[in-house]
Amino acid sequence: MKRIAVFCGSNKGTRAAYAAAAENLGSQLAKRGIELVYGGGCVGLMGILADAAIKNGGHVIGVIPQSLVIRKVVHKKLPDLRVVKNMHERKALIAELSDGFIALPGGYGTCEEFCEVLAWSQLGYHQKPFGLLDVAGFYRPMLQFFDHAVDEGFIRPAHRELILVEEDAEKLLHRLETFQPPAEVKWIRKTPGKF
Ligand code: AMP
Repeated sequence: MKRIAVFCGSNKGTRAAYAAAAENLGSQLAKRGIELVYGGGCVGLMGILADAAIKNGGHVIGVIPQSLVIRKVVHKKLPDLRVVKNMHERKALIAELSDGFIALPGGYGTCEEFCEVLAWSQLGYHQKPFGLLDVAGFYRPMLQFFDHAVDEGFIRPAHRELILVEEDAEKLLHRLETFQPPAEVKWIRKTPGKF
């Protein structure tokens, strides 16, 4: 696995564990020789993650839309910064550059980014692994919601399993590296009800 995209908060969150996890993930990626692809910001968990990767000798690619460069939230010390026209171009380039995806805690931006990765995965647009780093149980309510969506017939059990969940960065990276994509992809159901 050459490059992993990490989606994470542009805020640090209230618990010290979130920042510690971002720092640890950045250094783990660098130590494994895996390049980091991310949103290119200097703020919140994004800044902590990128700084840790750079500090440990890792390569970092930031992909940021012009509008955010103007708002001065861009990280100024990235070895590779790609400025794109808009958020759509940003997500497409991040997805194309990366061999896998990880989400740390975050807000709407983070959730939007990883849900798109999962939606594309279930449609068979890509077969790249996605891992959720569940720091301090942050994603437990969201995982419960996804289980609910399975029970209610909106997510197939096989697609629920596309989310690799770990609390520890090393374990999660190992699962990404050994991931086997499921054979089943989504198609439009002819009859209503459960999958
Ligand atoms: P959020 O989870 O709402 O804080 O949004 C974080 C995600 O959205 C990141 O993974 C980024 O790709 C993007 N994003 C949001 N705010 C910024 C910012 N100030 N600079 C760069 N990217 C951002």
